[in-house]
Amino acid sequence: MTTGASDKLHIPEGLNYECTGCGKCCGGWSVPLTEEDYFRISDIDWAGKFPEKFFGKSLFREMKDYESANSPYTHAIKEGADGHCPFLVNNLCFIHSTFESKTKPSICQLFPYSFNKTPSGTYATISFYSMAAVNNSGRALVEQRDYLESKLAEFKSMYPDHEPNWSQIQLSTGIPMTWEQYLGHEEKLLSYIKDRSISMDQRFVNGANYLKAAVSEARGTGVAPVVAKLEGAGALKGLDKQLLVALHKIYFPVQQLGRGESDFNFYRFLYQCCFGGLMGGIKIRVPGKSYGFEELERMPFPSNDDKEVEDLIFRYFFSRIFGKHYFGAGLGQLSLVTGFNHLAIVYGLVKLQSKAIAKMRGVEQVSYLDVAAAVRSLEKRLGETALDGMAAATFETLMTSNQRVARVLAHT
Ligand code: SF4
Repeated sequence: MTTGASDKLHIPEGLNYECTGCGKCCGGWSVPLTEEDYFRISDIDWAGKFPEKFFGKSLFREMKDYESANSPYTHAIKEGADGHCPFLVNNLCFIHSTFESKTKPSICQLFPYSFNKTPSGTYATISFYSMAAVNNSGRALVEQRDYLESKLAEFKSMYPDHEPNWSQIQLSTGIPMTWEQYLGHEEKLLSYIKDRSISMDQRFVNGANYLKAAVSEARGTGVAPVVAKLEGAGALKGLDKQLLVALHKIYFPVQQLGRGESDFNFYRFLYQCCFGGLMGGIKIRVPGKSYGFEELERMPFPSNDDKEVEDLIFRYFFSRIFGKHYFGAGLGQLSLVTGFNHLAIVYGLVKLQSKAIAKMRGVEQVSYLDVAAAVRSLEKRLGETALDGMAAATFETLMTSNQRVARVLAHT
């Protein structure tokens, strides 16, 4: 384990953020509260401050067990009928404007910054649920070091128990790796993801092939690893489709889901595999519609010829990898191979979801806003979805194949 560097704050290059006051971050979710948040905010006489808005309103609720499991939260702010936080007034936070930032829920004080503590320091990133993050608005994060250091200090005092366990990371199941070895692999993976001279699909396939070769070398079998190719990847197999549909239901739900709702569940996945086809379930569902894989495949995805779309996709996945929110303690203790391949498959889902949204709008061309909507939904659900041991084991079984990655990206 690296020592001496553990206090360093790492800030990603190429990501910008400054709040644009659009108010979009304050909608579409039930804001979770720690017990301290709950007592601080619920103690205030909100009806006395703004009777027209708050008189007679019940603003808070206790979280259900599955919502609060493995989290520091106990309560939540009830969403208003318009889907927004009731404290959002004229696109401004009424708690903040009436008191100060420190009175807001902890999660809102830090949003959209996130901090991930690792053996080589803490890695800062931003949530792509924020439209400003999606649009890369404002100053570069690297120019905001002092502010980020102050946010990290707040984060540490709010979440003193944040100690992710990186001591058991694996390259693939049964192949442990040191943190230094991981950093070497990450450098390679980021060099593939950053290669903007080739398509995003190819960048992910190159990363999956690199890891396949690393596993082969670590196992020392002497058998040359199969190199997956996009060209001639072969048709999607039944299990590829079932996996995509099962993941799509979690990351792009037809009805809004909250924290801990519809987590990846092994039994539901098994059910989907066995009966999904019989029930017309091998389709990508969006509100009021469903689309088959073939019809979505025929529609082009503009990541190669639309610079804004390419840039958004690149920044999103770069941010996930830089922030280490895709494997080990960053995501369900997945091995590096599975964590990376899961990201690649999720990229395939972003393509499918963007196309489905465009079709829902009645057009055959994906726009930047379709992709932005897909990325925001994915970011929200990845933050809310827990992977238990059984789900992680299922991921390890289904996502080790670089050829599956190539098939999915070639046909989405
Ligand atoms: S409490 Fe304030 S900052 Fe948090 S979601 Fe509500 S309006 Fe937005």
